[in-house]
Amino acid sequence: MVFGISYHGWFRRSRRSACTLLLVIASFLTREAFAEDAKPGQTVIVRAGQLFDPLAGRMLDQPVIVIVGNKITAVSNGNTPSILGATLIDLGDATLLPGFIDVHTHLTSDAGGGGYEGLGISAPRAALIGAKNARRTLLAGFTTVRNVGAEGYSDVALRDAINAGDVMGPRMQVSGPPLGITGGHCDSSLLPFEFHYSAEGVADGREAVMHRVREVIKYGADVIKFCASGGVFSKGDNPLLEQYSPEEMRVLVEESHRLGRKVATHAHSAISIKDAVRAGVDSIEHGIFLDDESIALMKEHNTFLVPTSYPLFWFEEHAPQMHLPPWVMEKSAIIIPAAKKNMAKAFRAGVRVALGTDAGVYPHGLNGGEFWAMVELGLTPTQALQSGTANAAELMGWSDRIGAIREGMFADMVAVKGDPLRDIQLLQDVQFVMKDGVVYKNEISGPNRATQTH
Ligand SMILES: [Zn+2]
Repeated sequence: MVFGISYHGWFRRSRRSACTLLLVIASFLTREAFAEDAKPGQTVIVRAGQLFDPLAGRMLDQPVIVIVGNKITAVSNGNTPSILGATLIDLGDATLLPGFIDVHTHLTSDAGGGGYEGLGISAPRAALIGAKNARRTLLAGFTTVRNVGAEGYSDVALRDAINAGDVMGPRMQVSGPPLGITGGHCDSSLLPFEFHYSAEGVADGREAVMHRVREVIKYGADVIKFCASGGVFSKGDNPLLEQYSPEEMRVLVEESHRLGRKVATHAHSAISIKDAVRAGVDSIEHGIFLDDESIALMKEHNTFLVPTSYPLFWFEEHAPQMHLPPWVMEKSAIIIPAAKKNMAKAFRAGVRVALGTDAGVYPHGLNGGEFWAMVELGLTPTQALQSGTANAAELMGWSDRIGAIREGMFADMVAVKGDPLRDIQLLQDVQFVMKDGVVYKNEISGPNRATQTH
């Protein structure tokens, strides 16, 4: 047995060694050593006390996961197989879960925006803010995110840097600039006329909307985001009204789908939700003023609701200290109680839910609070976990690769000590994070120790 050798040191030594290595019991602390650690063909075995399977909706005891490179090749329970040269990560009695998925983040911005300060942030600066927040989000257990709305394609740059291994972060789908009407929630009305400023995603009328969809795809969008109603952080618009006509929405969705992109829709007012659902959008984000008719329509069209519930609770506590613009405070006083009531109603009615946090309007890294908030509003812990794993994967069109710990999927997983189905708040502090077969955090087996048997 050899203790205290480094991860990299062990691999160098093992390549030279002629002895037969049956198992290495290892734990890695690899926060700064990341993507390059993924060795093609490297075999890792992960063992834990139980495993949450969102597809079956239950826990499995004594799971043993075999990973080769970045893919899961086998899931069983009971005895740990002896595989020549394999590395064993023993998580003891911890609960293993699929890597979490957040379908509504704003990695390239920090909390406290919505006012004039944001106008001073360049697209390159936003991308670097994104690098900081991507790391925080991954270490919070979110191995995949969908970034919905970024000026200057800073989200495209961030996604590409993560994929190239330059920056540590979750796998991403990104929208680029969100589409919206002149003067709407996805425009910016902070500056007076003489500055002639409109946000990059502004498009009015059929042809402009079609062009804008094609343009954001040209520059790297995986998903199309648009604003169907007013919002909270924008100056001069009304969340209770509709933005975009039903015809413009139909064109937008048709063109996006024709080009193979899903559509995420910021919608607060009931009328905007209904028209967006009829236009065929894939998800309603926020859905604050959902009424019985819009809930029924969403069920009929199988439209996902992304409730962004945690900010409702977070703002109640923190908004008074944040020095937010007056219009944000006025709108949130109306929106927060309505949203809580209507989310609970939608959950009771059985609308399909995908987890989205709106992180960026509050600090990144607190994303796990969304599980707790959805349970507060009526989902069961199992449903909340499904919404942040298998459901979110389905909404992203990635059910074949993420959202569950199953053979053939990417090796994205997290672990917590204890049972999150009994205490959902455990998900706010994960102790183990693996993405693509690479360990980014392991506070369970202890840092930088490795053992080997001959
Ligand atoms: Zn948002």
